Amino acid sequence: MKFQLKRLYFQIILFFTANLGYPGLPGLKTGFCYPFFYCQACPAATSACPLRSLEQSVDRGSFSWRLFLYPLLIIGFLGTLTGRAVCSWACPIGLLQRGTGRVARKVKKFPFANKLGQHRIEKYFRYTKYILLISLVFVTSYLIGFIFTDICPVGFLTGTIPTLLLNPGKFLPNYFFPVAVVIFILFFVLIFLIERGWCRYFCPIGALLGPFNKISFLHISVDIKDCTHCNGCSYVCPMGIDVPNMHRDPECILCGKCVTACPMQHITYERR
Ligand code: SF4
Ligand code: SF4
Ligand code: SF4
Repeated sequence: MKFQLKRLYFQIILFFTANLGYPGLPGLKTGFCYPFFYCQACPAATSACPLRSLEQSVDRGSFSWRLFLYPLLIIGFLGTLTGRAVCSWACPIGLLQRGTGRVARKVKKFPFANKLGQHRIEKYFRYTKYILLISLVFVTSYLIGFIFTDICPVGFLTGTIPTLLLNPGKFLPNYFFPVAVVIFILFFVLIFLIERGWCRYFCPIGALLGPFNKISFLHISVDIKDCTHCNGCSYVCPMGIDVPNMHRDPECILCGKCVTACPMQHITYERR
């Protein structure tokens, strides 16, 4: 079976596993943390969002080591083993963007969208997710009680919208609801405009997982000795990486597209 098809099956299985909570049977809503970005507010969710746990650990001046370390240890363990592979093999929002990425690739042919992705500040803009992780999850919850999950577009997609549709009377919009609507719309515009736009620029879980690429047991290795610089690998990369020069880039999600694309077989999954 083709490698990318295997990955798709794996993502679909993980998507259903993440949503087993829907019948509300005991044991199906586990309360454990996902190692990826997904929302426990979703009526179908099986587990909890790591960001929510981190936020609650520092909410309004209190601090809980248990809530703080729990998601970090899960993400740290998986990150050390497989780097950011969770993003391309398990996260349902990664699966969503695998679909929208096809549209984004077509949109990229328009000069405006192409320029957007090629702009020289683009690589610096990727640091936004690290700033978000630190500021929205830690600092703002201390200072103004403004917490990421109140405006999270994934919470809106998988929690707010299903609740509005299934139990309209039960939904009580909070103070941040109008901001959440705007961010949700921008999220969709972004992922249709730039392939994996959310993962590249904004996802705080991607920011947590990314640095583990530098030390992870599983990683992508490029042997540029006989590279013909055909650029086939960079062309297929959903994260817009200059693959031959990437050196265990924190942006790499280990999707393996470049591995398949290299006609010289210079790119491999490496275990060390
Ligand atoms: S970076 Fe993307 S794929 Fe990875 S956890 Fe975040 S949304 Fe999911
Ligand atoms: S460098 Fe290769 S494995 Fe990493 S994200 Fe790009 S295509 Fe996927
Ligand atoms: S696809 Fe292979 S040969 Fe072509 S640029 Fe990438 S590493 Fe080099």
